[in-house]
Amino acid sequence: MPRLIDLAADTATRPSKGMRQAIAAAPVGDEQRGEDPTTLALEARVAGLLGQEKALFLPSGTMANQIAFLVHCRAGDEIVCAENAHVFGSEGAGAAALSGAQFRPIETATGLFSVEDVARRLRAPRHRSPRSRVIAIEQTTNRGGGRIWPEADILALKALAQEKGLALHMDGARLLNAAVATGLAAARFAAPCDSVWIDLSKGLGCPVGAVLAGPEAFIEEALVWKHRLGGAMRQSGILAAAGLYALDHNVARLAEDHANARRLAALLGAVPGLALQPGGAVTNILFLDLSGTGVPARALAEALLGEAVRVNVEGESRIRMVTHLDISAGDVEAAGRAIVAALARLRADPQGHAVP
Ligand SMILES: *Cc1c(COP(=O)(O)O)cnc(C)c1O
Repeated sequence: MPRLIDLAADTATRPSKGMRQAIAAAPVGDEQRGEDPTTLALEARVAGLLGQEKALFLPSGTMANQIAFLVHCRAGDEIVCAENAHVFGSEGAGAAALSGAQFRPIETATGLFSVEDVARRLRAPRHRSPRSRVIAIEQTTNRGGGRIWPEADILALKALAQEKGLALHMDGARLLNAAVATGLAAARFAAPCDSVWIDLSKGLGCPVGAVLAGPEAFIEEALVWKHRLGGAMRQSGILAAAGLYALDHNVARLAEDHANARRLAALLGAVPGLALQPGGAVTNILFLDLSGTGVPARALAEALLGEAVRVNVEGESRIRMVTHLDISAGDVEAAGRAIVAALARLRADPQGHAVP
């Protein structure tokens, strides 16, 4: 069996040799006492990168989102977000279970929405209404197809948030993809936000970790929740060293992932009945709509696995593919060919039974 070409998610990245060397060489101390020098260095580096006062190293992006809501919200508060947002659909109803906040989701295929979309959903302050408290955006939009929030839209949301006394929270799991794709500094997108984090364990190629940033008072409260939730660590410099290595070596190269996603889109664009996400690949995520082919997404995914290509099934007729550090241009071409061939076979027999 050839090596698996894993396009299911950019979490498939493995720590490289250079990253493992950085991990091995990391100076460490007790993080819970604020004495791990490598963790402190990573936090300072990310705060600067995002134009925020302070930052906090965490085990995961999910914890970063949940801690942000715990700091910003009281039980019964409301968070406005996209209907396909990770915070709404992919975190085990964490907001309901932990901060007691509820969501006011906006239907949007791209994950993007306008200031008017938000303004229409904010509640008038009344004793019987939920209290609008947070606007949450994803940079880039994961289930929206890796789309980028323009800086102007973020500034407009910030102005609305300020006017209404809300917090603007950015789930920046792939913020650096947006920075590289646009050529704008990450801080241009992140500095206007009241809280923002980046994931180290996606396209940046680290084994573990996320870094949450914000004003000093926010991070002070976030630290209390980090400890309460069991996110405090000890010699976490072992993990933070991977983050520092990734910021030095794995950011500019995200452009290759974007080029590979476009390459994949070009290979698949001409297949009859197969619809790429509108506008094609913008960063490293590409959704395919198979409904025009009559082939169920699950059947295609199973056929591809048989050829050592993994994609993510996102619905009866929807597939997601994500390019990353461990996917080369050659891998993308091989995957594209496998998809075209599998679709041709399955169209003849959509259930995937072997044709005698
Ligand atoms: C992956 C992801 C998360 C969660 O991050 P983890 O580090 O896996 O917990 C949150 N939001 C978005 C948009 C993501 O893609």
